[in-house]
Amino acid sequence: MAYNITLIPGDGIGPEVTEATVKVLEATGIEFHWDLAFAGDRAQDMYGTPLPQYLLDSIRKNRVALKGPITTPVGSGFRSVNVALRKTLDLYVCLRPCKSYPEVPSSYQDVDVVVVRENTEDLYAGIEYEMEAPETARLIRFIAEADGQRISEDSSISIKSISRSATRRIVRYAFEYARKNGRKKVTAVHKANIMKFTDGLFLSTAAEVARNYPDIEFETVIVDSLCMQLVRSPQRFDVLVLPNLYGDIVSELCAGLIGGLGLAPGANIGEDIAVFEPTHGSAPKYTGQNKVNPMAMMLSAAMMLRYLGEEEAANRVEGAIAQVIAEGRSVTYDMKADRNDPTAVGTSQVADAVIQKMKE
Ligand code: NAD
Repeated sequence: MAYNITLIPGDGIGPEVTEATVKVLEATGIEFHWDLAFAGDRAQDMYGTPLPQYLLDSIRKNRVALKGPITTPVGSGFRSVNVALRKTLDLYVCLRPCKSYPEVPSSYQDVDVVVVRENTEDLYAGIEYEMEAPETARLIRFIAEADGQRISEDSSISIKSISRSATRRIVRYAFEYARKNGRKKVTAVHKANIMKFTDGLFLSTAAEVARNYPDIEFETVIVDSLCMQLVRSPQRFDVLVLPNLYGDIVSELCAGLIGGLGLAPGANIGEDIAVFEPTHGSAPKYTGQNKVNPMAMMLSAAMMLRYLGEEEAANRVEGAIAQVIAEGRSVTYDMKADRNDPTAVGTSQVADAVIQKMKE
């Protein structure tokens, strides 16, 4: 059976890492029908919008997409194409496993943390009021009248909203993920000591959901303390569940622990739709240079294979990547101890090396 997958190469380095990843996926022997769809700069030029309707229709039809990073064109009317895509398709989970592979130049070994980030609300929802806009002045007046809090008139304001329903489903997802994947502990991350209503609700709802999973250990940690503990001893964490903004920041911190963005895969998941994409962005300065690391995108593709039930193929892809890393010969500049190491190879050579390992 062939899988119908929406393929979104994206912008900047996106097309290069996508091409390398598609080659590896096709080398698994599994058949794919790629439904090619453009978003970002290319879609803006072709259709006058960075997020065309046909792309959304394609993902809704195929239910699974593999996506490169997208640059948000300045002045497109979208704060971020990526955020709009996640919100439109209600992809409420951002799943970012961060795992150490042997021989990666990094100060840390044996890290295996899974970041489960809420994807639809919090400060990231982009509800903002600009300095000196009439509605900002109204909001400032309303807040002063409602509870006497004074906000300076020359302020811009962002709204942080956290709901019980969105928290319930993300925390449930984290526990279900833990159960399915043999994980032992879920840590809910918050700043409820200061944001008593928003993060307080996240914390109390997480604790309520946790009661339904007595087989999984549950703990809570304040986000600043989490950052310190992650840097000191990341091995003590297993599955982290976080509101949107903390999740965004902490997942890059975790990517740093395992050797950088070139190795950090991800997925945005809804009830029955999933879009797999690396954590990194479109790194425009490297566009077209055959230079960047395609492994984050390949590992995202391995996550996609698992989601499709192709566990054995996923293990083969991941195993081949791990071997290429361990040998250290066919890796890109970011995987070398010295970033100017002239023996670093290019994006397409990494694909060739991974495919070779899969055959051995
Ligand atoms: P970025 O992740 O694109 O790049 C930051 C730096 O990380 C790069 O300069 C490079 O040094 C390194 N890097 C990133 N990917 C790498 C790889 N595969 N291999 C080796 N090194 C790599 O972040 P940015 O510069 O802040 O963002 C550029 C654009 O990407 C922006 O328009 C942003 O909005 C967009 N973006 C998109 C997504 C997405 O599509 N999901 C995510 C993040 C950023």
